[in-house]
Amino acid sequence: MTAPKSVAIIGAGPVGLATAAHVLERGLKPIVLEAGPEAAHAVRQWQHVQLFSPWRYNIDPAAARLLAATGWNSPDPEIYPTGRELIELYLSPLSTRTALRDVVRTSHRVTAISRAGFDKAKSKGRADAPFEIRYRNDKGEAALEADAVIDVSGTWLSPNPAGHNGLPALGETQHNARIAYGMPDVTGAQRTRYAGRTVAVLGAGHSAIGTLMDLAALAEQAPGTQAIWLLRSEDPAKAFGGGSTDKLAARGELGIAFAALVRSGRIRVESGFPVTGITDEDGRLQIIATGDRGVSADELIVATGFRPDLSLLSELRVGLDPAIEAPVALAPLIDPNEHSCGTVRPHGARELAQADEPGLYLAGMKSYGRAPTFLMMTGYEQVRSIAADIAGDKAAADRVELALPETGVCTRGGLESIAALPGCCGGPAPSGVDSCCADDAKAKAAGRTGCGCS
Ligand SMILES: Cc1cc2nc3c(=O)[nH]c(=O)nc-3n(C[C@H](O)[C@H](O)[C@H](O)COP(=O)(O)OP(=O)(O)OC[C@H]3O[C@@H](n4cnc5c(N)ncnc54)[C@H](O)[C@@H]3O)c2cc1C
Repeated sequence: MTAPKSVAIIGAGPVGLATAAHVLERGLKPIVLEAGPEAAHAVRQWQHVQLFSPWRYNIDPAAARLLAATGWNSPDPEIYPTGRELIELYLSPLSTRTALRDVVRTSHRVTAISRAGFDKAKSKGRADAPFEIRYRNDKGEAALEADAVIDVSGTWLSPNPAGHNGLPALGETQHNARIAYGMPDVTGAQRTRYAGRTVAVLGAGHSAIGTLMDLAALAEQAPGTQAIWLLRSEDPAKAFGGGSTDKLAARGELGIAFAALVRSGRIRVESGFPVTGITDEDGRLQIIATGDRGVSADELIVATGFRPDLSLLSELRVGLDPAIEAPVALAPLIDPNEHSCGTVRPHGARELAQADEPGLYLAGMKSYGRAPTFLMMTGYEQVRSIAADIAGDKAAADRVELALPETGVCTRGGLESIAALPGCCGGPAPSGVDSCCADDAKAKAAGRTGCGCS
């Protein structure tokens, strides 16, 4: 009898915990190293946010099987949880009340990974050497060995900077006391920081939209609060998403509600605003864009997405797409330059394994590199396939066991998307119909000419 393969899992986020569940089910030996003091450390930073996917898309099947044995009640599949509920009703019981309790090591930050006895340049016998995983905990620095490594450490801890060229804008680091990244809780824990202030939000994804909507809500309660939306693109409508055509309905509704706020003028819009520098002028931030445009604000929230921290993989032979920083076989499937719709076909070990470093896999949010379209359910399918691959079940590794919803975020763009709002024109036109809005589509179908929207 040979000992079961050991698998080091870097990160105890939703996908890391699911990985451990699949690895256990396969009779392998997982150990999960988590940098934060508790599992789901990254989700805890955005726990005030409501998810755009309902419970039925947020629970991994192997994790649910582990939980079922503890008498766990699965939440209503059609309800949209907040990040906090995702933790309280799912991730926390999973990490503390199931067999995962014995394999998750919190406050263990992985700092580097190599092959035992092999530096990056040494080839002969490399594939047979175990991985050596360096980590830091409250006792100092230590190392452990494992037969396989799955890096599911996410991207939350490495947000993109404000600079439009991918570098921090000139002065960004110097003024970081008044700059926040990601999605601060502006109406809750961070309320006193933002209430009554002029707050610029940079970005055009769901984090930027959600924060701007929260600031608009804060302005209702705290007079003097003003939200300014800074976006690089000339076309704000691109950020409104697929509206009623988005199969993740909550996400579609968010875009529609946001467009209505913009139209009402409650959010000031500065489009075509590629940030180059940040200075201080009379105690306020001066945010500067190309062409010497400037916007004055008390606070800046940078919500320009995330990028993977590749430093811990630098002593391994990792093949990543040079632009997206995702595994080379996955990158063409998710390249945001090509995939505006966000629909990605399910994929697994074949796309995520590292050919030059057998036994190493990237999965979860980190596997998407700089692409913003990751869904938890995609990650659960990835790690089901990877666990099968490590266990030697190639047929299960190659099988696809997931049907993804079409996210339908392909907008037609242009200002007509703002006009095509519920209450005005009956919402966006059905996809594939050459009309500016739902009412116009109905009018055209009835043989009328002109715009059906009054
Ligand atoms: C605001 C927001 C809302 C989202 N909403 C949805 C949604 O509605 N539906 C959906 O499907 N997806 C959503 N996503 C996308 C994605 O599914 C989530 O980000 C999800 O948490 C990704 O899971 P993960 O396990 O890959 O990474 P993470 O949740 O980021 O977990 C990674 C873990 O690794 C740990 N870690 C990092 N570095 C190290 C290290 N060096 N050593 C050890 N541990 C480390 C982190 O502390 C963290 O706990 C959302 C994302 C955000 C940011």
